[in-house]
Amino acid sequence: MKEILLLKDGEIVLKGLNRRAFEDVLKRNIRTALRGTGEYEVTSAQSTIYVKPLGDDCDLDEASERIGRVFGLVSYSRAAMCEEKTMESVLATAPVYLAKQLKKAKTFKVEAKRSDKKFPCKSPEICREAGGEILRHFPHLRVDVHNPDVTVYVEIRDFGAYVHADPLRGAGGIPVGTGGKAVILISGGIDSPVAAYMMAKRGIKLTAVHFASPPYTSQRAEDKVVKLLRKVSRYAGSMRMITVPFTAIQEKLRDDCPEELFTIIMRRLMMQISERIAKQYDCAALITGESLGQVASQTIGALGCTDEAADMVVFRPLIGMDKQEIIDISYRIDTYETSIEPYEDCCTVFTPKHPRTKPILKFVKEAQERARFEPLVEEALQNLKITYINPED
Ligand code: ATP
Ligand code: MG
Repeated sequence: MKEILLLKDGEIVLKGLNRRAFEDVLKRNIRTALRGTGEYEVTSAQSTIYVKPLGDDCDLDEASERIGRVFGLVSYSRAAMCEEKTMESVLATAPVYLAKQLKKAKTFKVEAKRSDKKFPCKSPEICREAGGEILRHFPHLRVDVHNPDVTVYVEIRDFGAYVHADPLRGAGGIPVGTGGKAVILISGGIDSPVAAYMMAKRGIKLTAVHFASPPYTSQRAEDKVVKLLRKVSRYAGSMRMITVPFTAIQEKLRDDCPEELFTIIMRRLMMQISERIAKQYDCAALITGESLGQVASQTIGALGCTDEAADMVVFRPLIGMDKQEIIDISYRIDTYETSIEPYEDCCTVFTPKHPRTKPILKFVKEAQERARFEPLVEEALQNLKITYINPED
């Protein structure tokens, strides 16, 4: 039996005149996500995207899993294509295609959608006939229109008739690439991969920036970030990871700045360097995994000092979330287990015993200026390392 994936557009249906452009990006993202699982024809009509396998060697299990991670879709179904657009063909298809689910169920109902108004049977008639046919095949079943174990959907559309069970929930959001580009400051922790996922969900195409301080931080710590970004890229698409050599800057910080301001000046330097990289790569915003009050560098005062360092919008999608809420998302996107692997981050080298929780911007800036970081910042920017991140690597 031939199968097809029917995908429902999400928020882009609200986009009015821009809708075509949004849908084109969405279709492109779907094609990219399906790479390596077979050949498909991807078309759209009436808020539905049709993903039709070409040939018999498509891995539809893998394909539907990947579709579930494409932003811009509210729901999707794996459906049987009836051989013909006739009532007979629908009746021949439904009990066979959904046999496994129907055998296990006690109750069911049929829902019909008839967007092709030329189809001779109206929706109530389709439901009645398909219901009768299913009962003939599975006499143990009862019809329950309110709370059925299985709902059998019959869709009569312009290009054919389809049968499927309950649709699966899509990834939501809007298509990656329709919201502009931004730099995500990525560490090996729990928070920043979740922040990356959340902004990709709002349509942003990501470039990742990671600060590494070897030998205080190891190659394995960097590998862990690559691993995390691969997981994120299953949702956000492929991206560049830019590693900034941060050792000399951190050593200068340790040597030439007041200890209680280490963290805040370090965060300011991260923002300034990230802003420079963002401009190089045509990105218009910075993203961090900060959450208000989580640590000393994430108080209102500290965030104010951090923000002032860069002349660019900073998105902090986790700002109002508590740790458990963030962890719940990291489980869902499968980054949690990697995030808790115990490798050091440059944020944890030279940490002050008593960081300022209410830093005064004027003093912070003076201390930073006195230490003269510019030559080291320039040198770091000359020695960036680029790694390409792909979901399937
Ligand atoms: P995370 O779980 O993302 O590490 P955190 O709660 O540990 O966050 P911090 O370590 O203070 O908080 O870092 C705050 C934010 O700064 C991170 O979410 C991330 O966006 C950025 N950041 C921290 N360390 C690095 C790094 N080594 N490279 C790039 N960005 C970093
Ligand atoms: Mg961290």
